[in-house]
Amino acid sequence: MLLSRDGQRFLLGLVAGLLLVLAGSLPMSALGYLHPDRSDDLVFAGSSTYPPFQWLDDQGQARGFVIDLQDSMAQLGGVKAEHRLTAWEQALQAVESGEADAIALFASEPRRQQYDFTDPFYYQFHSIFSHAEGEHFSNLDALRGQTVAVTTGSYAQGQLSGEYPDIRLHSVTSERACILAVHAGEADACVEATLSAKRHAADFDVRNTSAPFWPRPYVFAVRKGNDDLLEWLNFQLAAMQADGTYFAVYQKWLPELEWRKPTIADHLNTLAWIITPILLSALLGFIVAWALKRQVAWRTRQLTAELQSRRRLEKQLRDQAEYDAATGLPSRQAFINGLEHRLSEAPGWSPTLIHLRLQSLESVTSTFGRTGHEKLLKDFSHHLERLDFPLVSHFGSGTFAIIAPEGLSPEDAYARLAVSFDIEGLNVDPGIVMGISIGRADDDNDSAAAHAEELLRRALTAFSSAYAKDSTWCVYTPELQPNPRNLILLHDFRQHGTRDMHLVYQPKLDLASGRIREAEALIRWQHPRLGFISPGHFIPLLEKAGMITRLTRWVIEEAIEELARCRTRDPDFVICINIAAQDLSDDAGLVDFLRDKRTLSRLQGLRLEITETGVIQDHDHTQRVIAALREDGIYCAVDDFGTGYASLSYLSRFAIEEVKLDRSFIRNMRENRRDYAIVASTIELAHTLGLTVTAEGIEDQATLKALAELGCDTAQGYVISHPIAAEEMYQMVGRHYLERI
Ligand code: C2E
Ligand code: MG
Ligand code: MG
Repeated sequence: MLLSRDGQRFLLGLVAGLLLVLAGSLPMSALGYLHPDRSDDLVFAGSSTYPPFQWLDDQGQARGFVIDLQDSMAQLGGVKAEHRLTAWEQALQAVESGEADAIALFASEPRRQQYDFTDPFYYQFHSIFSHAEGEHFSNLDALRGQTVAVTTGSYAQGQLSGEYPDIRLHSVTSERACILAVHAGEADACVEATLSAKRHAADFDVRNTSAPFWPRPYVFAVRKGNDDLLEWLNFQLAAMQADGTYFAVYQKWLPELEWRKPTIADHLNTLAWIITPILLSALLGFIVAWALKRQVAWRTRQLTAELQSRRRLEKQLRDQAEYDAATGLPSRQAFINGLEHRLSEAPGWSPTLIHLRLQSLESVTSTFGRTGHEKLLKDFSHHLERLDFPLVSHFGSGTFAIIAPEGLSPEDAYARLAVSFDIEGLNVDPGIVMGISIGRADDDNDSAAAHAEELLRRALTAFSSAYAKDSTWCVYTPELQPNPRNLILLHDFRQHGTRDMHLVYQPKLDLASGRIREAEALIRWQHPRLGFISPGHFIPLLEKAGMITRLTRWVIEEAIEELARCRTRDPDFVICINIAAQDLSDDAGLVDFLRDKRTLSRLQGLRLEITETGVIQDHDHTQRVIAALREDGIYCAVDDFGTGYASLSYLSRFAIEEVKLDRSFIRNMRENRRDYAIVASTIELAHTLGLTVTAEGIEDQATLKALAELGCDTAQGYVISHPIAAEEMYQMVGRHYLERI
């Protein structure tokens, strides 16, 4: 039977597996129970030239797969193993004579006559070996009539002599001698156990020329009837299979058991193992280099594209930064750069800078929409460009900055700039307001940048002043500079509101009853850093900054709280609060605010004091507001009467209740006949018009008495009381005072 190499392995694996299953089916305890005792050491016989199964190495040491198995069996069984390796025939004789206990050999029927066999522990094959340069015999029939070398006592000798009598056998003492006989031409071929003979053949001009045949179980043989030893050996074999020893030994010898003389294919194979990784590395290196190169090229392309788009973007941004998109004029930054450049280039230059705004832009937008807005901006920009001023620019939102030609007067500048434009057939005045800074503004140490910044700031300050005064232009002077203290106050009010403020109350004496029946609420600001701030200072400041309404609302809320308390003492008690002109504008929403409070029915007895100038400022509007307030039961008084130019008869057109004579008339009325006459006639006329009169700023008893005699209704001044805290004022509510006059 001829088996391929894979077939041999499969068979071997199958046998090993079967043995394993057999052994595995026995529990180890059962193995222990069955363990046959043996105390004598074992002597194994074998061939000295039968690699890889058994042979003597150069030092005379027994080595090989079978030797390791025998050692393992002995160790497992607790005995020592001795190996006697000799020529094969002598080895067989040693067992027969009892000098040795066992020997590993192929199991065969003729041998079974002389020996008892253990279970097989391996399978071996035979092959034909022919001279490399002679005839190559590939099967046993081809050997008929040939001289074939065999080992004396070997399985092959037994088989061939029995079955192939026409083959001439040339018996030699060892396996190696067989191969040598072929090599030397003493035999045409030899028949040998495949694995072992292959090893020897590799050293000579001898080749394995047939497929393997005669698959034979490889077993341990003992003398016939030596049952104890046989049982012991079988047990050790099974135990070795079960505990993995057999597998370990087999694994150790596997490369040898599968050994064959390296062929050209093997060399190529080995070479392939060496070369393949090198080639693979080279290929990998090549691929990586190629990929890197591609990536570098791709990245370079990408970077170039990015660079180009960045350059485009930068240019776009530069253009955007340098030119205003709405008008095409230079931008703020470009203007500052240009101004800086001129300042540094011409140290003697005396610039005229104009900060200009088109005040009509908002109304044009609301009338003509966005297109009107854009048209006005563009038309004015074109006009500016045509004027050929050294530098013009649009800062955005209808604000322009201009460097005017040297020596151009503000009047001339205005005349050249302020032209009207046609929008949808209508002649529109752009409403130019200009802030002008003339001359240099630098310290010697100032950089061109700081100088340019200062010039712009001056022009802007002048612009704010012109705007506040409703003028068309204003030239910067140091007096226009805002007071830094005021800036702090405005900042803090914006930040903290009325946090550091409180109200004081100045009682008002009703001269008819001689009792305190009213009080005026006056604001106080105790600033944490700047100390006491006079309302005469910060009220106009807040008005200018458009922040007064916030304060007024707070005062109203505080005052109505206090009023409610005072009314528990005098149900007709009145508290007056001061209202700025701005509080009467639609934006301030004072009427609605007060109506809200009214629904809480806490407003009875609140009176509003409006300065004379405040009343006449927006005549029609104020008239409507005062009328609306009166409808709601809130009366108004004209404060500081006499300081403006309004006549009483004019004021009486407003739905006011009371006139407060300014203290400038009261102060000297007893000495100054003119003042006395004004006071006397005002009281008289007011009464004729149905108004009550309060005199403020009364500082002495004589004046108070004089006013009482003139029929003045109410008196207010230090002589009665300074402005005092709410609690003190509460104590004075309803108090009788007249006997002190
Ligand atoms: P005003 O409404 O005419 O208030 C009277 C001012 O004269 C108060 O000054 C008061 O302290 C002062 N005064 C009263 N009696 C005498 C006196 O016998 N002799 C002298 N020399 N002065 C006297 P104050 O409190 O400094 O207020 C100044 C102005 O500030 C007020 O004038 C008023 O217009 C405004 N004000 C005060 N509080 C408020 C407020 O809450 N809101 C608004 N919008 N303005 C307020
Ligand atoms: Mg007042
Ligand atoms: Mg007053």
